[in-house]
Amino acid sequence: MERFYKMVEASNKKFPKGVEPFQMATRLLEECGEVASEINLWEDSGVKRMKHGEPKKEDLANELRQAIVELFKIAKYYGVEAELEDAIERSLARSKSEGLID
Ligand SMILES: [Mg+2]
Repeated sequence: MERFYKMVEASNKKFPKGVEPFQMATRLLEECGEVASEINLWEDSGVKRMKHGEPKKEDLANELRQAIVELFKIAKYYGVEAELEDAIERSLARSKSEGLID
C-alpha cells in the first residue's frame, strides 16, 4: 500500500492542477476505460489487434497500476487510508473465516 501512496505523492507533485475530486474521478474513469481497452485487445475483440498488434503483459499491468493509483489518490484526498486498510483487513478476515482462503 505504501508504494501506491508514494506514487500518489509523486503524481500530485508532478501534476498539481489535477488533484480536485472531479478531476480524480474523471481520471479514474479514463484509466478504467484504458484497462477495458487492454481487455479488448487481450480478448481479440473487434479490430484491436489489427490496429495495435499482440497484447503485452506490461501494457495491461501499467494500465492496472494507473487505475489503482487513481483509487489511492481518492483515498488520500479524503484521508481514509487507515479505513481502507481496515476494510481490506476485515474482508480478508471474513474470507478466511469462511474458509475461502488460508
Ligand atoms: Mg492509462
